[in-house]
Amino acid sequence: MRWYFSPKHLLHDPDREVRAGTPTPGYEVARRAEIIAAELSRDEELHRGEVRAYDRRVIDQVHDPRMVDWLEEAWAECRPFSEHREIIPDVYRHAGLSVPGTAGREPLQKPLARLGFYSFDSMTPIVEGTYEASRSAVDVALSALEHALETGGVAYGLCRPPGHHAASAMIGGYCYFNNAAVTAAEMARRLGGPVAIVDVDYHHGNGTQSIFYDRDDVFYASLHGAPARAFPYYLGYRDESGQGAGHGWNHNVELERAVADEEYLYLLARVIEVVHAKNVVGVVISLGVDTYMNDPISDLALSKAAYFPAGRLFRELALPTVVVQEGGYDQVDLGVNVRSFLRGVGGLDAAGPV
Ligand SMILES: [Zn+2]
Repeated sequence: MRWYFSPKHLLHDPDREVRAGTPTPGYEVARRAEIIAAELSRDEELHRGEVRAYDRRVIDQVHDPRMVDWLEEAWAECRPFSEHREIIPDVYRHAGLSVPGTAGREPLQKPLARLGFYSFDSMTPIVEGTYEASRSAVDVALSALEHALETGGVAYGLCRPPGHHAASAMIGGYCYFNNAAVTAAEMARRLGGPVAIVDVDYHHGNGTQSIFYDRDDVFYASLHGAPARAFPYYLGYRDESGQGAGHGWNHNVELERAVADEEYLYLLARVIEVVHAKNVVGVVISLGVDTYMNDPISDLALSKAAYFPAGRLFRELALPTVVVQEGGYDQVDLGVNVRSFLRGVGGLDAAGPV
């Protein structure tokens, strides 16, 4: 099984985010990806592939090109307004600041207004290298897609920054470009049939849901902490099932606090049955291991033993599969849990050579 990783993720290196008004060291740090890469490098049955650079047009298939343009310039244009190397918004375009017909109006002249227009939280800072790192994360995912399409098998993109909270014209939740959404849209186009994104991160992938909410080329299914208590709070409820052509193409499963291995694997198996019934021709997995019992920002209770069988369940679909990295913040077992999942989905045995 092949995996892809770019050292350019190191260019996105904020020292702080703002939580409850307090500048605090962020959880989404460069070390996360280095831990996963080190663990995978030790596994002789996982082989690292070459990352290619992709044209921006692939990103523009799911992101508003105006947002892509803005992200490229955001750090430079906001830099004069901050004493710190991170740029974090202080004003947001709340829905209450629009009336019908004005929702898409972008404030063009004031950099901090543009920042708040495209952001939804204060935990997603922009530093000098954010754009380049985010582009490299998309390249990593698309390189994995290339391999999965060539072989009909499974490939993994160790994407950082993650992507599933980023919508067409919105960054947030540590996410800038939606790596899974870009990959799935391109996969559906290349295969000429519908594909599925299965999101197993602890958090609901609000960005992915909203990108495909009215489309029937990508089925989005997610198991996540119930949004009544878990970020991103405002989306991810079970009655959100898609609209228009996308009606029936969105599937949310809300998890209660402290769900453990057996119940989780049962619910994941049910989701995979739903995916199977959609007759899709490819799968993208948004892999977050913040479902782990020791994760510092989540409240499920999965043990290390859950990740291999969780990956294994996807074998039943027998489809070209791209796994992209989303969250996971426990730095002790992060690498082991990702590796276990990948060995499961890759059809390898549980133990594996180290
Ligand atoms: Zn997460």
